[in-house]
Amino acid sequence: MDAKLASKKDAAEKTIIKVGDAECGGRDLMIIGGPCTVESAEQMEEVANHLKRGPVQALRGGVYKPRTSPYAFQGMGLDGLKILSDIRDRHQVPVVTEVMSIEQIDAVVEHADMLQIGSRNMQNFELLKALGKVQTPVLLKRGLCATIEEFLMAAEYILACGNPNVIMCERGIRSFDTYTRNVLDLGAVVALKQLTHLPVIVDPSHAAGKRELVADLARAAIACGADGLIIECHPEPEKSVSDARQALSLQDMVDLTISLQPIAEAVGRRVIRTDKRQFSIVNSSNKHVKVSFEKQKSGSLLRRLS
Ligand code: PEP
Ligand code: MN
Repeated sequence: MDAKLASKKDAAEKTIIKVGDAECGGRDLMIIGGPCTVESAEQMEEVANHLKRGPVQALRGGVYKPRTSPYAFQGMGLDGLKILSDIRDRHQVPVVTEVMSIEQIDAVVEHADMLQIGSRNMQNFELLKALGKVQTPVLLKRGLCATIEEFLMAAEYILACGNPNVIMCERGIRSFDTYTRNVLDLGAVVALKQLTHLPVIVDPSHAAGKRELVADLARAAIACGADGLIIECHPEPEKSVSDARQALSLQDMVDLTISLQPIAEAVGRRVIRTDKRQFSIVNSSNKHVKVSFEKQKSGSLLRRLS
């Protein structure tokens, strides 16, 4: 394999990538949650507020959508980017969104903390080269039918053109079975963790295509060594404009992230809050108190602010 830059030089080599204040590839897992598509400011506000209840390090939401049909909603574009950067600034949380073409890169770099390259663009080599010219982290999703070698070589394009900040994402590959939308290839996650020093995260939502399969696949991904997860969730999952069948409710997303804790610990990882977001909880005397999470050696601690 000719992946000179993406390959590990020794088994222990790893690259930790900073996305806003959060990190991916070290001991702490990176959990990314949010809707398939940004639909409105109110929707993203609700997502940001609710996901504060769990260890979610970044939010997602597509504004340029690769839809199978040209007649399907194509995303909010620049208006959606503004919603994302407003959420980022007010909630102090990094945001991730897809970039589909070279012309979109500047605007997405300005408004987001990580650029997602969707499956359908994994081998869009001109786009990969252009992403090498910025320093914003890139979340590179595996192509629908890409081999592990092709996937690594796509990452190599970005590294070779000058951007060292690449996170790889296994999101299921096409196969003969139509029960699940794709086949989640956890074997590829294990292989990639041996082959490359880059972080590898898993998207169980697009792999499964069915919400009832997502939590168990997410837990399996962490158990086999993934550095994080990207999961679709929505305030009203059935009403999602895209990928409704696989969207979790916001509370199911929070419950899932909390359920990862013992699995993370069993494989020497942690799933903790790494941000400085503040929010209100109701205490035992029924009073609202302002709190934030604090990073500690043993995990994260809720700190009372008022
Ligand atoms: C998405 O994340 O909404 C998406 C379109 O993903 P993929 O490129 O993996 O299909
Ligand atoms: Mn989607």
